[in-house]
Amino acid sequence: MPRQKRELNNGPVIQKEKETVAEMIRIYCRKKHHRDELCEECLDLKNYAFKRLSLCRFGEEKSACSNCKVHCYSKTYRKKIKAVMRYAGPWMVLYHPVFSIKHLLKK
Ligand SMILES: [Zn+2]
Repeated sequence: MPRQKRELNNGPVIQKEKETVAEMIRIYCRKKHHRDELCEECLDLKNYAFKRLSLCRFGEEKSACSNCKVHCYSKTYRKKIKAVMRYAGPWMVLYHPVFSIKHLLKK
């Protein structure tokens, strides 16, 4: 994988996605693993998700990850993030209704 020269994504869309995924992982870990701080596994997943977003080939043009045709997550992480999304999704609607609805409309 060529890593040199590639600029990391840093625009508002990517930033917002990072905030969302971080929030979802936080909810998941707090409710599922009963931790105030992210446990090691969830922290690892968050770092991975951030990295994928930074390197997302669509950058600011990206649509919802769940909708994306490019499967940039490895199998293991894909499974993990899906579990997080499924679990934290309803909580996101509760805690952050406006953002969740916007996100859904992007589909
Ligand atoms: Zn956790």
